[in-house]
Amino acid sequence: MAQAILVVNAGSSSIKFSLFAERGSDLELDCRGQIEGISTSPHFIARDRAGAIIGERSWGEGVNLGHDGALEHLRSFLRGELKDLQLAGVGHRVVHGGLEYAEPVRVDSEVLGALKKFIPLAPLHQPHNLTPIRLLLERMPQVPQVACFDTAFHRSNPEIAQWFALPAEMHEAGVRRYGFHGLSYEYIASVLPGFDAGAAAGRTVVLHLGNGASMCALDRGRSVASTMGFTAVDGLPMGTRCGAIDPGVILYLMSERKMTASAIEKLVYKQSGLLGVSGISSDMRTLLASDDPRAALAVDLYVYRIGRELGSLAAALGGLDAIVFTAGIGENSAAIRERVCLAAAWLGVELDAAANDSRGPRISTARGRVSAWVIPTNEELMIARHTRRLLGNAVTNQEVRLNAKG
Ligand code: AMP
Repeated sequence: MAQAILVVNAGSSSIKFSLFAERGSDLELDCRGQIEGISTSPHFIARDRAGAIIGERSWGEGVNLGHDGALEHLRSFLRGELKDLQLAGVGHRVVHGGLEYAEPVRVDSEVLGALKKFIPLAPLHQPHNLTPIRLLLERMPQVPQVACFDTAFHRSNPEIAQWFALPAEMHEAGVRRYGFHGLSYEYIASVLPGFDAGAAAGRTVVLHLGNGASMCALDRGRSVASTMGFTAVDGLPMGTRCGAIDPGVILYLMSERKMTASAIEKLVYKQSGLLGVSGISSDMRTLLASDDPRAALAVDLYVYRIGRELGSLAAALGGLDAIVFTAGIGENSAAIRERVCLAAAWLGVELDAAANDSRGPRISTARGRVSAWVIPTNEELMIARHTRRLLGNAVTNQEVRLNAKG
C-alpha cells in the first residue's frame, strides 16, 4: 500500500490540509482543502488534485466547532480518502522555531513543550499551529508528527543580519531578526537550479508577494537576509500589515493617542498595508481594477517599498544575479511584476513584456545582467518532503540502534 503524508496548516480560524501520496521517489498531491470560520460559521471543502470538489459541508452561522471539532471532521473525511493509502506521518507548518530549530523536528510531548515557549514571539500564530499537534498526539499517538518552521531556513543568516541595534542583553534574550516565509524560500531554492543554474549558484532575491509579503536574499541557495524581522509584520507593506515603520510611531500612538497594545496590534496587523492606505481593499486585484486615486497610491507605495528593499538585499548580497517572483501577487500579477522590474532596471533587470504577460517562467530578456523569473511556490510540498525525509531518517536511525545493540 502506498504511503501518504498529511500536511496541516492551522491558523486562528481555519485549518488547511494537503494529502500527498508517495509515487515512486516523489510525493504527489492527492487532495487538499480547509475548514474555515471554525468558531463562527464553519465551512469544509476538499478538492482532488484536479480541483474537483470531493467533500463539502457547512455547519451554519453561530456554530463554534473549535479546532477540536474541526480536526475530528478532517479525520473522518480522511479515513474515507485514505482507503488505498497508509498514513505515514503528519507535517505541520509552525511559524516559530526560535533559535533552537534550524531544521524541522519530530514532535513528542517534550518538543511540544519547547515549541510552546515561542508563543510570546508569535502570539497570533504559534498557539494555533500547535493545537492540532497536541490533539493528534493525544488521539493518534502512533502517527509520527513533524513540525516545519517558517523561521528555520533563515537560521543561516550571518549574526550581523540578525541584530537590532538594541542593548546586547536583548539580542541574547532573543529580541532579534528571525525572518519568516522560510518554507516558501526553501522550496524556491530547491527548484531554482532547474530554472537558472547560474542564479542558484549565485545571488538571488526571492519576492514572496502574497497576502503576507516578504523578500529573501539567497547566496548559493542559503538565506543571508530577509525583510521580515522579529515578527511577520516587518518589512514590506502587505494586504493588511504595515511593514517596517519607525518605532517612534508606536510610541506616539501610545502617548498621544492613548492606544493600548492590543489596539496597536490590530492597527499594524489588520488595518494597515494595502487596506489601510487605500481604504478600499487588501486585495491587489481590486486595487489594480480600481480608478480611485487612493487605490493607486497604495499600489505605488507597495511597488516603491519593494524597490527599496530590493536595493537593500542586493547590497547585503554584494550584487545580484536573479530575482524570482512567487506567491499570489508574484505569480499572478503581470502588472506588479512589470512595475517592480522597471524599478529594478538600474540593477540590470530588463523585462521581456511578452514573456511577463504569459507568466514566463523567464520574464527578462537575454540582454539584462540580472535574470527575472516567475516560479510558483509550494510550501505544502516542502513540508511533506521534510516530513518524509525525517521519518525515513527516524526509521533508519532506529535500525542502526537495533543493529548496534544486536
Ligand atoms: P496568497 O496569500 O499567496 O494566496 O496571495 C493572495 C493575494 O494574491 C491576494 O490578496 C490577491 O490580491 C493576490 N492575487 C491573486 N491573483 C491575483 C491577480 N491575478 N492579480 C493581482 N493580484 C492577485
